Amino acid sequence: MAADPIRRHIALVAHDNKKVDLLAWAEHNRDTLAQHDLSATGTTGTMLEYELGLPVRRFLSGPVGGDQQIGAKIAEGDIDVLIFFWDPLEAQPHDPDVKALLRLATVWNAPMACNVATADMVITSPLLASEEYERVRPDIGPRGWEGGQIT
Ligand code: PGA
Repeated sequence: MAADPIRRHIALVAHDNKKVDLLAWAEHNRDTLAQHDLSATGTTGTMLEYELGLPVRRFLSGPVGGDQQIGAKIAEGDIDVLIFFWDPLEAQPHDPDVKALLRLATVWNAPMACNVATADMVITSPLLASEEYERVRPDIGPRGWEGGQIT
């Protein structure tokens, strides 16, 4: 008997020049996204909620802390997948935060799609809702971190 599909927590972020791409992608994949829990940085989240008619947990806008909030949730294990359409052709005032988010998603082995083609692959993967797939997370975490030392 096939295992029940599970809900993942998917975070979505798009820089301004990439918001149209993300909204079109999300609209195209609305039915799949509806089967998961969604969160986003502030402006991206407002647009997604309007476009999809689905609940989206909204963090702060990216440049004022939203990227950092999402990075922290990935580190805590509360976000499973990151769809992050960052803009490779325009400098961002919050570039350190962008780098930090990319870095944390990599540290914690979170599936991360930074363009439409990769996002297409991730959203259609049978592993996305498979109970049998549990990604490996590094063996350090909130409970393994005591007094500023990794235990
Ligand atoms: P925004 O933030 O969704 O609030 O525009 C995105 C970002 O720049 O990281």
